[in-house]
Parts: sequence; structure tokens; C-alpha cells
Amino acid sequence: MPDVRRELIAVAQSAASAGLMPGRSGNVSCRFDKDEQPGFYVTPSGMAYEDLTVDAIPWVSLSGEWDETEGLRPSSEWRLHRDLYANRPDVGAALHAHSPYATALACLRREIPPFHYMIARFGGDTVRCAPYAPFGSQALSNGAAEALRDRSACLLANHGMVVCASDLKTALLLGQELETLCQQYALACQIGEPSCLTPEEMTDALARFQTYSHGLADGNVFARQHEGIP
Ligand code: 13P
Ligand code: ZN
Repeated sequence: MPDVRRELIAVAQSAASAGLMPGRSGNVSCRFDKDEQPGFYVTPSGMAYEDLTVDAIPWVSLSGEWDETEGLRPSSEWRLHRDLYANRPDVGAALHAHSPYATALACLRREIPPFHYMIARFGGDTVRCAPYAPFGSQALSNGAAEALRDRSACLLANHGMVVCASDLKTALLLGQELETLCQQYALACQIGEPSCLTPEEMTDALARFQTYSHGLADGNVFARQHEGIP
């Protein structure tokens, strides 16, 4: 069986090369039960991803414990990742990033409105923005969990973004898609005031994602709830 830590490293490196993780910001994790104990692998704190080896990847239990002798110190955002795995059975991987456009919008402390139908990709008619809380804090995790309710992405005020998905590759894809949408929204706002889709148009977009080729099961809880909408 392939070592999931290799995929975790590959996804973290791809996210960094795509410009989602400036400096040493951001972190990536995936659910992994070890010796029948529920938990997850997460990128270590403050490490350049190009230097990562499988032995450096820490494993954290859902009760928030890790073995100091196995892997490096886990990401300072381990609570954010832990709480997603503890409370969202649909989540198998998560990515937190300080990507430039998502972070710029997060500094406005505003949700992203339905200026484009692709907002529905993340499970609702907006991408919410969690209130500001210090990095690594339980308050940050609590705010993110609320902003991610029934969705697969949110902004973190004055900080960045979080996406969650069933697997690592989808989490990477969602992170890239959210950053692109944030760039498009920022560009549109520079030209004028974007016209937003109506609630009916967004309901239709959510329903259409049900049958779109990606499957888009991830995070599209709202769409799943509205199965059958023509
Ligand atoms: P870590 O390097 O500890 O994962 O922290 C990066 C970060 O983005 C904190 O919010
Ligand atoms: Zn961060």
C-alpha cells in the first residue's frame, strides 16, 4: 500500500509551487488511523516543503496527542485540522493557505458573494469568512468550523483560507480553485461592482454540480440536500 505521507508531501509541494503557500505559511493534513487509533498526518511546523521526508511527518491523534520521537513538531494549526477530522466524517484531507488573493479578501473580513457560479463548488451560495483569532488557537479552529458548516471552504479574517475535501488531491484542487475565484473577484471589484447571481440562479448552479463530470461530491452538502432540482 502506498505511504500516504508521500502523497501529503507531494500535495504540500504542489501547493507551494502553485504559489498558495508564500514563505513557510500554510499546512496540509490527511486523515489516517494508526493502530486503530483515529488521527491524521499533518505537515510539520515552519518547515520548507522541499526538504520534507516521510520520517519528518508527524501523526496526531484525534485527542491531540503526538509522539515527540516520531516526526517533527506538528503544524501550529493542528487544532484546526484535528477538529475537522473529529467533527466532519466527510473530510479526509484539509489545506490551509495564505495564498495572495484569498488572504487579501480575508483582510476585508467579508464573505465572497455569489459573483460567479463556481462559488457553488464549495457547497453554498457564498464563501464565508471566519472572525479573526490568533493563529494556532482553539478560537481560530472554532470560527473556521462554523464558517465551514456544510461547505468545503472558508476565509480566515486577516489570515488566509481553509479548504477541506475527501482526499488530498481534491483538497489541492479546491485550494487552487478558491484562489482563482478570489483573484477573479478582486479583479472584478477593481473594474466595478460585480453583479451577483440570484438565490434561484445559485440553487440551479448547486444542482447542476450534482451531475458535473468532476462528481463534486466534496463539500457540496447543500447540493446533495437539493438533489433532484431540475
Ligand atoms: P505552521 O508552519 O506551524 O503550519 O504554521 C503556518 C501557518 O499558516 C499558521 O497559521
Ligand atoms: Zn496560517
